[in-house]
Amino acid sequence: MTEPTDFLPKAVAGVVPSRGHGSAAFDPEMVREDFPPLSWELRPGIPLVYLDSAATSLKPWPVIRAIDEYLATYPANVHRGLHTMSERATEAFELARQKVAHFIGAADSSEVVFTHGTTESINLVAQAWGRTFLKEGDEIILSVLEHHSNIVPWQMLAQQVGAVLKFVDMTDDGRLDFDSYEEQLSDKVRLVAVTGMSNVLGSIPPVHEMVERAHRVGAVVVVDGAQSVPHLPIDVASLDADFLAFSAHKMCGPTGVGVLYGKREHLEAMPPLMGGGNMILRVDRSSSEWNDVPWKFEAGTPAIAEAIGLGAAVDYLEQFDRDALLAHERKLTWHAHRALENVSGVRVLGPAPWQKGGIVSFSVAGVHPHDLAQLLDREGVAIRAGHHCAMPLHEQMHLPASARVSFSLYNTVEEIDILVHAIEVAKRVFRRHQGQRNMTA
Ligand code: PMP
Repeated sequence: MTEPTDFLPKAVAGVVPSRGHGSAAFDPEMVREDFPPLSWELRPGIPLVYLDSAATSLKPWPVIRAIDEYLATYPANVHRGLHTMSERATEAFELARQKVAHFIGAADSSEVVFTHGTTESINLVAQAWGRTFLKEGDEIILSVLEHHSNIVPWQMLAQQVGAVLKFVDMTDDGRLDFDSYEEQLSDKVRLVAVTGMSNVLGSIPPVHEMVERAHRVGAVVVVDGAQSVPHLPIDVASLDADFLAFSAHKMCGPTGVGVLYGKREHLEAMPPLMGGGNMILRVDRSSSEWNDVPWKFEAGTPAIAEAIGLGAAVDYLEQFDRDALLAHERKLTWHAHRALENVSGVRVLGPAPWQKGGIVSFSVAGVHPHDLAQLLDREGVAIRAGHHCAMPLHEQMHLPASARVSFSLYNTVEEIDILVHAIEVAKRVFRRHQGQRNMTA
């Protein structure tokens, strides 16, 4: 395999080049000092090799400190109090919203709704937009690459309103099949829901073109950005998707908070899903008047500390040139493919390294992914094993489960070499165990 030199533009198909975010020199070795678990030993003599960032990323000190500072010095509720501490909390909370809006290129921070994460964001669109605007016989297009969070909410909606779900196929090498997409598109399609990056194969669907085609037939597009927003430069203004969902915890932020970006016209037209405090302007005994967007969708006390932490995560990521981060993660992906493909018995799943993000799934002949993950953990290497909440995708690949490594800005080429060594050790341990079992059988 020779490395193509033009892989960067291909890698960001469906997203646009960076809007010139920060320019601080990017040095993965220095960055590692910001993430506390990377300087600890998991067990005596065994440092942590964290290759599970697609599940959740590690959190850098500035994020930890921002949350700590809120909790320790101004832990008041937002939007309600007239006292100093509450005003400070409200300012920090709303500033975090503005930072997120800038990060994704939203025209206005009112298009950024804080939720608990990608899953809640997609459910919010399904229940608030979908139940209002979809009717019996309308079609919803998904792809076989989707995470359950971008399948189940649409199944629930389809059952509720009588809509029909259709799935776009993938190619043999695990990319979204654009011909299959075009075949499914008709004027019956009201909604397209697609991932920005597969959490199993790392494939990056051509979201830009998909949005453009969907709009031609009058369909609304929801992008599941759980894996793409943390790693690929994104600009919702030029992407033109109607909704974009993502989670803070996969982009160096805390758990418990996420985002639903929605075009203002859609957010205005959607009814709120949950009623309660914060989402109203006025309440009498029989009726209420909704608050403006985005607060109309944020009933109750929000995840204040977490939203402030997300704002700090955005600051953290924005200090670096995002193209440099992307190039680093692509170097790791390339190295992982090459190294894993040289291990006998290993089958790497999905597209070629220049057609995907920093997620590499694989199988090892004769070793169940769960056993592999446990054996690798003994060597300090944290990977993911299972169906990764993508059972239809695994069914399509005729595999019950797979092993997955995923990268972030703090990973290094040396860590991938440790992984490969640990897989060789695991294979030996497994062969020995099987030999013993055969002798006693
Ligand atoms: N979509 C994708 C592609 C994901 O990878 C994940 C998380 N694994 C989700 C949705 C769900 O994200 P969350 O659990 O943060 O809601």
